[in-house]
Amino acid sequence: MSGFPRIEVYKGKIRNNCKRTVELCKGYGIEVMAVTKGFCAYPEIAKCLVEGGATALADSRMANIKKLQHFDVDKVLLRIPMLSELDDVVEYADMVLVSEMETVKALGRKAVQRGTVQRVMAMVDIGDLREGFWLDDIIPAFGEMLEIKGIEVAGLGTNLSCYGGVIPRCENLSALVDYAKEIEKRYGVSLEMISGGNSSSMHLVFDGGIPEGINNLRIGEAILLGRETVLGIERENYHNDAFVLKAEIVEVKEKPSIPIGDIGRDAFGNVPVFTDRGVRKRAIIAVGKQDIQPDTLVPYDKDIIILGGSSDHTILDISDCNKDYGVGDVLAFDLTYGGMLGGMTSPYVEKVFLE
Ligand SMILES: *Cc1c(COP(=O)(O)O)cnc(C)c1O
Repeated sequence: MSGFPRIEVYKGKIRNNCKRTVELCKGYGIEVMAVTKGFCAYPEIAKCLVEGGATALADSRMANIKKLQHFDVDKVLLRIPMLSELDDVVEYADMVLVSEMETVKALGRKAVQRGTVQRVMAMVDIGDLREGFWLDDIIPAFGEMLEIKGIEVAGLGTNLSCYGGVIPRCENLSALVDYAKEIEKRYGVSLEMISGGNSSSMHLVFDGGIPEGINNLRIGEAILLGRETVLGIERENYHNDAFVLKAEIVEVKEKPSIPIGDIGRDAFGNVPVFTDRGVRKRAIIAVGKQDIQPDTLVPYDKDIIILGGSSDHTILDISDCNKDYGVGDVLAFDLTYGGMLGGMTSPYVEKVFLE
C-alpha cells in the first residue's frame, strides 16, 4: 500500500481514556463494557481497553465478536440478534442483548442442543424508541424468560439518545432501576446487571446524578474520542485525538467556486448548492465518501474549508491557509464518530497503530 489515506491510532491515549472512565465509574459501583464497533474491533485497540480495566468487550456485529475471542473477558453482542445468526451467538457471545421472546426461545433451544446456557440482557425501551421491551411489558416478559431452558437472564439494560435522542437523566434511568426492583420482588430473583446505557450516560458519571442501582455502562465513543456525547463538554484528562486521518493531496488549482454548466444531480442523487466566493485555491485529497463522509473530517489546519466530495475525492478550499500546500503534501484530520467508524471499516484506509 502507498501508506495514504491512513488512520494513525494512538493506543496509549485510548488506554488512558479507558482507565479514566473505569476509575470514574468505579466510584459509583459501575463496571464498564468497552464497545469496539467504532473501530471495527481491531485487536490491537481492544487490547488497550482490556488493559484499561474494561470487564467486557461489546460489539454489534458477530464478525467483530469472533475477532475478539482470544481476550479473556466476556464478549457481548450489542445488536439484538437475527434468528439467522443464533448458531454463532451461542458459540461466540458470552452475553447478548435481547428484546424478542421468539428470539430468546430460539436461543434457548440452540443452547440446550449445545449443552450450554446462554446469558442474555433483557433490553427495556424507556422512551428512545429503538430496541427493547416497551415499559411495563418487561415485567411479564422477564417472568416468561426465566422459564426458558438454556437461558440465564443476567439483568436489564436500556439504550438512550441513539434513535430518539432522549437524554439520560436520573429520572428515566431510575425507571430502569425500579423495573429491576419490581422484577426481583415479584420473581424472587437477584439481578446481576443493570446496564444504564452508552456514552450519553457519562455526563451523569462526570457531574453526578446516576441513580443508585445502575452497575454497568456500555461505553464506546467516550473512551475512543474522549468525548461525552450528550453535552459535548470536553472533560479533564481525556485525549480527543487518539484517531488521526492523514490523506495526500493529488491536485491543487485555482478554480471558480460555482461549476460551469447546468446543475443536475451529483453522483449521490442530490442537487448540489454552491456559494460564490469567486476564484479560490482548491486542493483534492485522495480519500472519498466510500471511506469517510467529508462532513466527518475536522482539519488540523483550521483555515481549510471542506467543500464536499465524491466517492474517491474530498475537495478542500485552501485559499485562506498560511501554508502553501502542494501536490504530495499530507493533511491531518480529527474524526467525528461517523468518520472513525467509516475510516476504520474501510479496507482502503491503512491503519497504523502507535504507542
Ligand atoms: C453502540 C452501542 C453502545 C455504545 O455507544 P457509544 O455511544 O459509542 O458509547 C452501547 N450500547 C449499544 C446497544 C450500542 O449499540
